[in-house]
This record gives sequence, C-alpha cells and structure tokens, in this order.
Amino acid sequence: MIPDYLAEALGEVAADTTGETAGYIPELATADPERLGAAFAMVDGEVYGAGDIDTAFTIQSISKPFVYALALSDRGFDQVLAKVGVEPSGEAFNEISLESGTGRPLNPMINAGAITTHSLAGPEGLQPTERVERITDGLSAFAGRRLKMDESVHASEMEHAHRNLAIAHMLGSHGVLTGDVQAVVDGYIRQCSLLVTARDLAIMAATLANRGVNPLSGERVVPEPVVRQVLSVMFSCGMYDAAGDWATQVGIPAKSGVAGGLIGALPGQIGIATFSPRLDSHGNSVRGVSLFERFSSDMGLHVMEVP
Ligand code: GLN
Repeated sequence: MIPDYLAEALGEVAADTTGETAGYIPELATADPERLGAAFAMVDGEVYGAGDIDTAFTIQSISKPFVYALALSDRGFDQVLAKVGVEPSGEAFNEISLESGTGRPLNPMINAGAITTHSLAGPEGLQPTERVERITDGLSAFAGRRLKMDESVHASEMEHAHRNLAIAHMLGSHGVLTGDVQAVVDGYIRQCSLLVTARDLAIMAATLANRGVNPLSGERVVPEPVVRQVLSVMFSCGMYDAAGDWATQVGIPAKSGVAGGLIGALPGQIGIATFSPRLDSHGNSVRGVSLFERFSSDMGLHVMEVP
C-alpha cells in the first residue's frame, strides 16, 4: 500500500519541470534532471520506496546535520556551541556572514557553520584526512552501509570553491577556524561529495527519528540529547531562507542538498527522503518540496498537529 501511495505521489509531481540543476558545480549541472524517487524508512526498520531510490548522487548539504551530530558527540555541546550558534539566518546557504558580537557562524546548516562543524568532528588534533575518515565512518554508520566518495564531484567543486574559501578565511580571521583553513574547505567538500541514494538518506533520517539508533543495524550512532539538538536546528534552519515557509507548511525537521536530495525526520516515527535534481531559488529540490507538502498533509505529519 505504501509503495502504491509513493508511486502515485511521484506521478503527481513528475510533470513539474521547473527549476534548474545546480549550475555552480559543473559536475552537478550535468545530472539527469528527470530522476525522481522517494523512500520511507520506519523506526521499526521497514523501508518502502518508489522511483529512483537506488540511484547514487552526492549528499551535499544533507551531510551538515549528521556532521553536526558527530561534532556534538565527539567534542561535547560546550565546545561546539562556543563556535557555532543555533539561530536561523534567513539568508542563502552560502552567505558570507557571522553573528554580530560573538563572531560565530549563525547556525550549522549554512556553509559558514558547516565548515566550522566539519573542523570539530573527531577528537582534537586530527589530520585533515583522518577527519574525513571519521566523518565517512560516522555517516556510514547513520546509513548502515559503507559510503564512497565521488572524486570527480569533489574536484569539480574545488575548482569553483572561491566562495567557501572566502568564508573559511573569514572564519580564520575571527579565530573560529585555526590552522590550514584551505584543508578544512577541502575536507568539507569531500564530506559533501559522499555518494548516497534516497534509500540511504531515508535510513539516515530514520536513525535521527529513532533517537540516534540505526533501525536496521541496531547500532547507536549518536546519543539522544545530540539528536534533539540536531532535529531542533534542522527544524529552524534546515531549509535556509525558506525555513519559515517549510516550518509552517510541512512542519517536519528537514535538510536539503544541491544535488537534489531532501530528508525529513519525524521523531519516533519515520525518516523520509526524496531525490529530484532541479532546484528552486533557495537551492531546495522543487519536486522534493512538493512531495513533502503532500506527505505532510496526506499523513498528518506536521509536528504542530495533534495526530
Ligand atoms: N557543497 C555545497 C556547497 O558548499 C553544498 C551546498 C548545498 O547542498 N546547499 O556549496
């Protein structure tokens, strides 16, 4: 029944060809824009899907909440919060901005915050390659299978990384980042280049929905208080400058990525993932947003609604 419902929902959004694939990363611009898939992973471990749920694409910004979770687990709340805030920015994901007064990035979902949380994953003193290893291991534990990196997407983004490098240098000038800031950007872009499928993303989201325990492998990936923190920040900041519209219309903690992935996690219930590469002006998947609007209203998933 659920697969039929999913297939029907995909059919309803398939005709919408508005939006563009991410142009600023040449390798992403060449993605097949027609790909479309959706997967549900329940907290009891059942996974349902329809469409392109086993097509690999790069995780991009959907890595941000998971790496934030790893940083909180590895370094503790105090160390991470001293460097990255939790306030919605109302700005684009790649805005060059810091919180006035503290000099911290506003939140871990925009690039300035995510580049900083990348630097805080793993114990202090790790080499850049060891940090990428820690993040690959951690995200693989969320997915329940070993994730690989797309080297060509990494190389393509690195050639056009001026904006992220500018953000990192600004963070360096405020002492938020220390050491080799270019190596941090390289590592952050590697993190964004990990390959996932909609099925993987649904399971990763379900791990958040399931208090930090992967519902398929049974592994505890991060502690429960970390999950609460991550889901709260996803709710207020996960959709960037569309976060308010999302919170009112869909009402599920969520995160988007510029390769076309979109996840939502409903505590105690379900992890949802969609994949469709054309993006709106905020960098969120057009058909993904429509699908989530449908899922939320059809199944009464809005967290502010009494079930
Ligand atoms: N790697 C991308 C960047 O840093 C991720 C952006 C995104 O998915 N919104 O620009």
